[in-house]
Amino acid sequence: MIITLLGKKTGKISAVVKGARKPKSSMRGTVQLFNYGYYLLYRGKSLYTAVQCETLEPFVKLRENLLKFAYASYISEILTLVLPEEEVNNAAFDLLLTSLKIISEENEVLGARYFDINLMKISGFFPRLLSCVACAKNILNDRGSIVFVASKGGVLCSWCSRDEKEGIPVSRGTLVLTNRLSSMEPDLLKKLKIAPQFFEEMAEITRGFWRFILDRELKTLDFVDNVQDMNKKEG
Ligand SMILES: [Zn+2]
Repeated sequence: MIITLLGKKTGKISAVVKGARKPKSSMRGTVQLFNYGYYLLYRGKSLYTAVQCETLEPFVKLRENLLKFAYASYISEILTLVLPEEEVNNAAFDLLLTSLKIISEENEVLGARYFDINLMKISGFFPRLLSCVACAKNILNDRGSIVFVASKGGVLCSWCSRDEKEGIPVSRGTLVLTNRLSSMEPDLLKKLKIAPQFFEEMAEITRGFWRFILDRELKTLDFVDNVQDMNKKEG
């Protein structure tokens, strides 16, 4: 069995785990998705082999709650696509851990958006949210409608967006909030009360932007949408 690990000292790697499916194997926990722990690795010619693991946080809730599982899968997919193999990235490591904690213990949508925004920042793709990408006008002084255009890397003011067809309309509130998430201490997130309308707009912005940056549709997005619809129907 081959698993993908994000290590503080190794970066993103693939590792073989032997005998993980045997009931008594000490390696069973290591192959559980979203497991966080110390892994003892041996480096082979092309792959690592994981021979021992001491779990620090098994993130059980992420596997027991379907919506949390969907969002944890979503952030894992993006991280796997964005990070190159074997490149140490402490900021990405810390971000993954913090985001998994928020998804597990608090609000899964907030955890996913916190992850989106901060991974964009870490990897140098951060969109321009508070001033127009074409004329640099501060959008907070603009009374007209603002749109987000992924291919332009940010927002267009009401004047510059008059002929824009691809833009997603966004409120100033969402832009300010999205921007704030990129510089906020994770502990303060708990106090944040975000209305569903802001979350919906943030999702539109981040989805559109990832689609443009990664040049593909994320496989986990349908999964996230389906689970969310299911939960809405159940009320
Ligand atoms: Zn403008």
